[in-house]
Amino acid sequence: MTRRRAKTDLAAGRRIVVKIGSALLVDQDRGTVHRKWLDSLGEDIAALRGRGREVLIVSSGAIAVGRRHLRYPDGHLRLDEQQAAAATGMIRLAHAYQEVMAHHDLTVAQVLVTIGDTENRRRYINARNTLGTLLRLGVLPLINENDSVATDEIRFGDNDRLAARVAAMTSADTLVLLSDVDGLYTADPRLHGDATLVPEVGEITADVEAMAGVAGPGFGSGGMVTKVAAARIATGAGCRTVIADGKPLHPLSRIDQGGPCTVFRPQGTPLTARKRWIAGSLMPAGTLTVDDGALKALRQGRSLLPAGVTAVEGAFERGDAVVVRDAAGREVARGLIAYPAGEASRIMGHKTREIEGLLGYRGRDEMIHRDDMVLV
Ligand code: GLU
Repeated sequence: MTRRRAKTDLAAGRRIVVKIGSALLVDQDRGTVHRKWLDSLGEDIAALRGRGREVLIVSSGAIAVGRRHLRYPDGHLRLDEQQAAAATGMIRLAHAYQEVMAHHDLTVAQVLVTIGDTENRRRYINARNTLGTLLRLGVLPLINENDSVATDEIRFGDNDRLAARVAAMTSADTLVLLSDVDGLYTADPRLHGDATLVPEVGEITADVEAMAGVAGPGFGSGGMVTKVAAARIATGAGCRTVIADGKPLHPLSRIDQGGPCTVFRPQGTPLTARKRWIAGSLMPAGTLTVDDGALKALRQGRSLLPAGVTAVEGAFERGDAVVVRDAAGREVARGLIAYPAGEASRIMGHKTREIEGLLGYRGRDEMIHRDDMVLV
């Protein structure tokens, strides 16, 4: 933890996830979107895009908008009422984002996810691929929890954590949590006049967690505790995390201009973190054997294509971890496979362009993509 830090350059990030809390975006009494604020955020996002950066938005606010539109009374809503509110509010929210970003010729795509989509590897790999495709097309993904179908037990419940999972899933290198506080304080500043903003956190120690624990409600529901938990997920995935006050107009350029915030430093890069995860924490569910040509390609950092695979063993599903062996049976790599075992057997030894004829659908070109593989 340090008291000083260099200016925070958001554009140092290549892929940036921006999380927006309900309170910033929605007039809680009227259930309408703060249009002027959203316009200013849109300008900031367009500026980042203009500098070649990829941006994903994780936005709350669906329930806040929907509950007013449906004229629910104040106070706690039942789960089904919250879900009805989310369904009603999300379409309005998405519309507002779409209108604002259209001024900058940017297309917005709505992606609603549940916790299972980031935990179950089959769905994880799908969600990751879809978001990757949208980003390659220059589209701005607008992500929220799929509140209308998620049940209590499988809900994220807070979008800070959802945003951190999205950052990890997409190998983003920067996560910005825009909230209603400047960042992490050494103690609750409302109770302790001498509390100071912590500009930078190198490691999330017990001391850092204790600081978050004392910053109570009003500092957002779930408040600083969930933000630090989100920072732990994201930094562990190689993504620096910035907590900043989003209330003023142009909240992102304000950070760039040296506005107050807390920056949590990442552990490694997204790629090293992802590779560490693939190499270390996943139990392989099968084995692929590859020929010498494929082995050479892997060593040059290329993906594994079906053509180079000579044998498939094990009962694995799409997205599972598998071991890659050379012709002599030596382990040469580990990776997440893009096809289930039966389909992998059918396409092995075949050219990529033959996949569709063999399987009846056009899957990924690679058996294991290079980003999903670690050489051993
Ligand atoms: N998904 C909820 C909504 O859009 C918000 C959850 C949160 O803010 O953490 O209303």
